[in-house]
Amino acid sequence: MTAPGDRLGPTLFERSRPGRGGGKVPHPPKGALARIPASQLRADGPRLPEVSEPELTRHYVNLSRLNYSVDSGFYPLGSCTMKYNPKIDEWAARLNGFAALHPLAPDDLAQGTLQLLWELEQALAEIGGMQAVTLQPAAGAQGELTGILMTRAYHRSRGEVERTEVLVPDSAHGTNPATASMAGFKTVSIPSAADGGVDVEAFRAALGPRTAAVMITNPSTLGLFEARLGELLAAVHKVGALAYMDGANLNAIMGRFKPGEAGFDVMHFNVHKTFSTPHGGGGPGAGPVGVGEKLLPFLPSPRVLREPDGRFKLEAEGERATSIGRVRAFVGNTGVLVRAYAYIRAHGGSGLCEVSDDAVLAANYLKARLRDVLDVPFDRPCMHEFVASSATLKAQTGIRTLDVAKRLIDYGFHPPTIYFPLTVEEALLIEPTETESIETLDSFVTAIERIVEEAHSDPELLHSAPHNSPVRRLDETMAARQPNLRWQAMTGGQTPCPE
Ligand SMILES: *Cc1c(COP(=O)(O)O)cnc(C)c1O
Repeated sequence: MTAPGDRLGPTLFERSRPGRGGGKVPHPPKGALARIPASQLRADGPRLPEVSEPELTRHYVNLSRLNYSVDSGFYPLGSCTMKYNPKIDEWAARLNGFAALHPLAPDDLAQGTLQLLWELEQALAEIGGMQAVTLQPAAGAQGELTGILMTRAYHRSRGEVERTEVLVPDSAHGTNPATASMAGFKTVSIPSAADGGVDVEAFRAALGPRTAAVMITNPSTLGLFEARLGELLAAVHKVGALAYMDGANLNAIMGRFKPGEAGFDVMHFNVHKTFSTPHGGGGPGAGPVGVGEKLLPFLPSPRVLREPDGRFKLEAEGERATSIGRVRAFVGNTGVLVRAYAYIRAHGGSGLCEVSDDAVLAANYLKARLRDVLDVPFDRPCMHEFVASSATLKAQTGIRTLDVAKRLIDYGFHPPTIYFPLTVEEALLIEPTETESIETLDSFVTAIERIVEEAHSDPELLHSAPHNSPVRRLDETMAARQPNLRWQAMTGGQTPCPE
């Protein structure tokens, strides 16, 4: 059931009145129209809204106020690291020398950008304990694909073409099995152990001469550090397979754990999660990939190289025959990479360590405070996020996690991730990040406490929530299967300004 609230207001097309206008479109030069072939000229004028400049400005400003964002409130979406993004990173990304550089500019004119990219690769390699990094992939998911394609090239270069399987724990993000399939591998899903960690025995049983790689998220999507990682990686290497680390949860471990030093052969960084860049609305991201010794030869081209004289250049086409080739146009999403560089440089090594320590502290504080209100299935200390569940609440009142999440919107909070990981019933995956104050965390706890009271006293209030949002409870199946995303021109009597 969709009931748009009053705050949505009419569209610009509905506000349009013939002849009303804010700006003037420059007239084309004399005779220009006559030079356009008749077949290319449109028969009717475009249906553009005609509104004054103040109407236009208010329309967009009011629309922007309907958005929920990290800049407007607490956004505890788990597995996404929705942290506050320092404005200095935005400033850096907009500097003309970066933002206006032509993507085909010769190396001589792109020295600053090339240096930044090279230094960012070094910084990420240091943070990940990796030998080298490619910045090309446009997101974590594409980073995974890049890493697994390099893994495939590695096995092929050794003639080990019988390695057709990738092992993935059942708590993994959906992009992990999707990546394995896209690269032509068979995904073998491994159930988690009772404590939420990887089941090393189950992995051991599945490992063999057919294993190409295992993909491990550490900390896991349950917010737990893999306690038996050393054993697992040793077993993986013993059978000649490679270990991939999904680095989406790096926000928990910077300066405390280096995947490369622990034995991972390849990992991706979601720089838009860990190193700022507003995300969540589907805007650009970046998913650099770090590799150890074994995968170095297979890195995508062109790599950014530093010459002995200190100048920077891009590898020439075909310069490295072992490369898996290009995975994205040019050198990647540079704007996002500039933000990541600015973030890393502004914090420095000890600052990044503090980021992770504070993120872990905030999550454990919230987990301890919510323990008496919701179910908290895993008892050991969490990392930067933790999984809670409303299974008991559902048994007592019929209120589901979805209802709790929708009601949170009425209290002014963005809901956490819900129903993920799939392994926990009625899951809420909560990630407060390091950027929230204790007062904000406490007010979130208060909201959850009130909602749990409401679940007992007035369950209907929750079933029909949200009540104060621009859009009320959606039919999520319809919204996903038959999304209505396009404005259709109104005709005849429907038109607010009939001709
Ligand atoms: C976000 C995420 C991904 C995918 O990353 P994108 O940058 O969104 O493509 C993969 N794995 C985990 C655990 C994630 O949280």
